[in-house]
Amino acid sequence: MSFKPKFPDFFLVPAAICAFMTVFTLSAPAQSPSTDAPQTDTRGIAARNMDTSVRPGDDFYRYANGGWIDRTEIPPDRGRVGVFTTLDDLSNKRTAGLIEDASKAGADAAPGVRKIAALYNSYMDEAGIEAKGLAPLRPHLESLAAIRNKRELARALGESLRADVDALNNTNFHTPNLFGLWVAPGFNDSEHYAAYLLQGGLQMPDREYYLADNPRMRDIRSKYQAHIAAMLKLAGFTDTDARAARIFELEHAIAEKHLSLAENEDIHKANNYWKDSEFASKAPGLDWAEFFRGAGLSKQKSFIVWQPGAFTAESALVASTPLDTWKDWLAFHLVDAYAGVLPKAFAEERFAFFGKVLSGTPEQRPRWQRGVAVVNGLLGDAVGQIYAQHYFPPEAKAAAQAMVADIIAAFRKRIEALPWMDPKTKAEAQAKLTTLYVGIGYPETWRDYSAFEVKADDIFGNIWRGSLFDYRHEVERLGFPVDRKEWSMTPQTVNAVNLPLQNALNFPAAILQPPFFDAQAPAAANYGAIGTVIGHEISHTFDTEGSAFDSQGRVRNWWTPADFAHFNAATARLAAQYDTYKPFPDLAVNGKQTLAENIADVAGISAAYDGYHASLQGKPAPVQDGFSGDQQFFIAFGQNWGSKSREASLRQQVLTDPHAPGEFRAYTVRNIDAWYPSFHVQPGEKLYLAPADRVRIW
Ligand SMILES: [Zn+2]
Repeated sequence: MSFKPKFPDFFLVPAAICAFMTVFTLSAPAQSPSTDAPQTDTRGIAARNMDTSVRPGDDFYRYANGGWIDRTEIPPDRGRVGVFTTLDDLSNKRTAGLIEDASKAGADAAPGVRKIAALYNSYMDEAGIEAKGLAPLRPHLESLAAIRNKRELARALGESLRADVDALNNTNFHTPNLFGLWVAPGFNDSEHYAAYLLQGGLQMPDREYYLADNPRMRDIRSKYQAHIAAMLKLAGFTDTDARAARIFELEHAIAEKHLSLAENEDIHKANNYWKDSEFASKAPGLDWAEFFRGAGLSKQKSFIVWQPGAFTAESALVASTPLDTWKDWLAFHLVDAYAGVLPKAFAEERFAFFGKVLSGTPEQRPRWQRGVAVVNGLLGDAVGQIYAQHYFPPEAKAAAQAMVADIIAAFRKRIEALPWMDPKTKAEAQAKLTTLYVGIGYPETWRDYSAFEVKADDIFGNIWRGSLFDYRHEVERLGFPVDRKEWSMTPQTVNAVNLPLQNALNFPAAILQPPFFDAQAPAAANYGAIGTVIGHEISHTFDTEGSAFDSQGRVRNWWTPADFAHFNAATARLAAQYDTYKPFPDLAVNGKQTLAENIADVAGISAAYDGYHASLQGKPAPVQDGFSGDQQFFIAFGQNWGSKSREASLRQQVLTDPHAPGEFRAYTVRNIDAWYPSFHVQPGEKLYLAPADRVRIW
């Protein structure tokens, strides 16, 4: 599971092309920032971003970030701003500089550099895109129009399958294709890559958008139907209102059978082993042999089906829904996926719905920023290799490694001291820490892009080929031994991730910089900021999901029933605590959906706090701006979460993200005993919890 919230702005490039979060998170004008960072203007905590007129015990989020919140406006081209978007800006600006250098490189440049330049330039060639009009799309629309029966439909549905979902690492459960493929170490054989299939078929981000019965969602649904009709019209279809109504009805029927995000996160329900021969009886309707042939998966003998009920229902819908409706659905999904690289009218119509209506963002990002996102999505490692050389010196790597070692040592002590955990369970937990692979900055090996053909004047084809290149890369490794040191984020990504099936962590170079990490800053700020991120990721090793995997990444229950009972009771109280948070009168945080991330936040602060105190080696902590070491530690944590969102964007996050909104993540401190004396928090203050009500997990 990753650390950072998903940015629900809208998909900048076809969602199908990439499983990295990078493509969803690009943000902000990097060349002329119209807002300043929540921190970055100083070493250590940023006192000027605080609002010390608020009592920390009443609203710790505002106490840490109020000054910044008051003077910050959300720029028109984004749904939210905060520390993460500021660092995304920096990473994107640097990446754009590297791409610009690459585009000046001559024919003697390295092949990876030339590919970066060609891909970026082809995206930026707006005149060429306009001149081509619908030509790149036409052969694909014609082949969909030529589908004559359900057998050919099954093949086309198989051909649209992409490796665009990720259930446990970057946690992306959404694909607009009928289903999504995730290739990862097997639940039942963690030494080899297995094929996971996940539900799909919805263009809007989650089933809630189709099913929730309230005025806002009803309005979104009617605008969505208009968007479908508008896209079909642009693509040359007639009778578009009727077609749109049928497509919407089909997606609505799919949504009714989808599992919710909270249900998707329960891996104990996900390990459904289906042989290829069983699909026809377990999920009748779709011609599965033809589907797998289209997907290039005919040789694959078994799958893990994440949501069996949805597969049965979606397959039945293939049989019961008229062929023409499915053909229109495929055409609409194709056009929507490639809107960003078709003539401007397509990109604008897509943004009008996904940007303005769904995220409330008034303006589209500048094209160069979207171009950087495309390059990061399709050639992420080629860019990342250059990025790491330029922006991640060996000293930074060594300093970050030392912090990780401190926090792992703190975790070891915490586990050893747990009064409720069985000694055997403790021994397994320690074994997990021993085999944990911690990647810092960048991966040990880089991906080979030589089989991905990039043409200077063909952005549509580049994305088409890139998405297939990615997909085939995943399919080709099915059954092969797992590389436990493989990364799932690029170095230029501002995020961090725990990979439970590999028992591994990745901390990319782009998050290991101020304000999260600064070798010159006081230890209190570093441990409070990046230290809590590191602790958060380590703790996923032992949370509701991590506890299901052993030290080799195998699915194995290594907890005693009594351990589990204690853990479940403690975490149920945490879920209930988050259920009480209401960003809007009609919408509360979902404590169950965000539970794993909230557990990780509680555990992350606890371990980072211990690591911080160990790092002092008995010496007094330096005071900064009148704040004690412990105060700086907690303020730095609170300042990780400074952010401002548009209403639509925040509502989308609450519905579709396993992470709670930043404000409530900052409130995690109320569960930490040391926070109370640090800020003299007293009974009666809004965030005060009696000692018995504080949730202590690790
Ligand atoms: Zn996480």
